[in-house]
Amino acid sequence: MSLRDPNCVFCRIAAGEIPSKKVYEDDDIFAFHDIHPWAPVHFLMVPKEHVTSMAHVGPRHEPVLGRMMALAGKLAQQEGARPYPEGGFRVVVNTGADGGQEVHHLHIHVIGGPRPWLKG
Ligand code: AMP
Ligand code: ZN
Repeated sequence: MSLRDPNCVFCRIAAGEIPSKKVYEDDDIFAFHDIHPWAPVHFLMVPKEHVTSMAHVGPRHEPVLGRMMALAGKLAQQEGARPYPEGGFRVVVNTGADGGQEVHHLHIHVIGGPRPWLKG
């Protein structure tokens, strides 16, 4: 990957340099379990390209973001979320300080599974 920040933890996870519990990978997308899960299902999906946040997204990111959104529900169910409507899942993208973003590589939280959850 050329579009990578060597100091970014999620770039390094997507490149396999930092271990993670992988959920899914293709040429453009990497998904892995959150280390501090809020719920029975909680994984993160990232573009392999370093994109700092949702506020940095432009037209050229539309295909990969569209694919991530389309994949989220399928992976949630593979990871143990029950089907809609009694099951389902939540998709969250924290952006910037007010948005509660802690890791500055765009990531989609996919959260689900039977309640109660630790948060949310
Ligand atoms: P936020 O930027 O607030 O959307 O949250 C970043 C999320 O990344 C948190 O839920 C962390 O638990 C998670 N996280 C941070 N470092 C790692 C890591 N090395 N592996 C897996 N998840 C991580
Ligand atoms: Zn990155």
